[in-house]
Amino acid sequence: MGGGLGRTPVIGKEIFDFVEKKHLLTALEAILRVYNREGRRDNKYKARIKILVKETGVEEFKNKVIEEWALIKDSSLTLTDEEIDRCQKFFDAPDHQKLGNSPAQLTDKLQSNILFAAWHSQNVKPHKVLGYSIVTVCFKETGVAPGDVTDRQLEQIADLSDQYSFGEIRISHKQNIVMADVRQDQLFELWKALESGAMASRNLGLLTDVICCPGGDFCALANAKSIPIAESIQRKFDDHEELTNIGEMNLNISGCMNACGHHHVGNIGILGVDKKGEEYYQVSLGGSSKNNASLGKIIGPSFAQEEIPDVVETIVGVYKEMRNDDEKFIDTYNRIGIDPFKEKVYAKAD
Ligand code: SF4
Repeated sequence: MGGGLGRTPVIGKEIFDFVEKKHLLTALEAILRVYNREGRRDNKYKARIKILVKETGVEEFKNKVIEEWALIKDSSLTLTDEEIDRCQKFFDAPDHQKLGNSPAQLTDKLQSNILFAAWHSQNVKPHKVLGYSIVTVCFKETGVAPGDVTDRQLEQIADLSDQYSFGEIRISHKQNIVMADVRQDQLFELWKALESGAMASRNLGLLTDVICCPGGDFCALANAKSIPIAESIQRKFDDHEELTNIGEMNLNISGCMNACGHHHVGNIGILGVDKKGEEYYQVSLGGSSKNNASLGKIIGPSFAQEEIPDVVETIVGVYKEMRNDDEKFIDTYNRIGIDPFKEKVYAKAD
């Protein structure tokens, strides 16, 4: 409860550690009732559940929700088995075939084609059904705004999803497209087709898989541009070997405090700010939207646009120097804190 980004970033707090399926709707209804009754209607900027939870205190808020829940828990809102079945039908699994794992043609192609193998190791994830994989088409080509897709590419994706993934795609919050049910023996064909449409970026989850809002190029609320910042970082790190050496990293960019680019939860977060009419960028470190979610901490005074790629390079340099074997950036950061990064970044700026 009460999580959210924007001007007041807050990590959600646990209200129920477990809710039975049939009580899910009443549990949510109880939360909404408390908010509806006590939320800040006097101030539209504070009319948010996160503000109410913060002002009330989590424990007290939780008690109010539990009291409310007791009134409706076994009411007509309780979900019946028939209702759960009815809803379930909207999400029926596709008609998977009975297949073996890792077919021979996949193993051969992985051994004989380095580019395919690199894409496979980064963008293809295991599936719970034997013989299938989950493919993410990563729209993070250097020189193209993160997440931008042309009409021709979308047409091609639609055709490919019909051909290889039961006609379904998902759009991810990382501004990529997921094909959730691809047969392993068709992965190579799919990759070839993606390559022909310039959609085979193999940087999923790496530093250049940036989340970036439209910023000052397209958004009237922006303090600063964000797309050129993403592009300058992508140019600086346009080397796949180096990217995989750096490993898992989330870099998120927003053009203003509204945080559409989720900069608060980026391992590295970049926020466009206005400094006496000039576009500047504030950098934060240590954010994460994974299970142990955290909000990034601002490293110090903001930077000019042209300084940002070097600042990111310095941060990455500190991480590479200080990391233990196989330690991810976020784990190194949590172990050593912000100071070593701060010292190097500002020592360089001086
Ligand atoms: S974060 Fe700000 S600049 Fe970026 S899209 Fe949202 S409102 Fe616009």
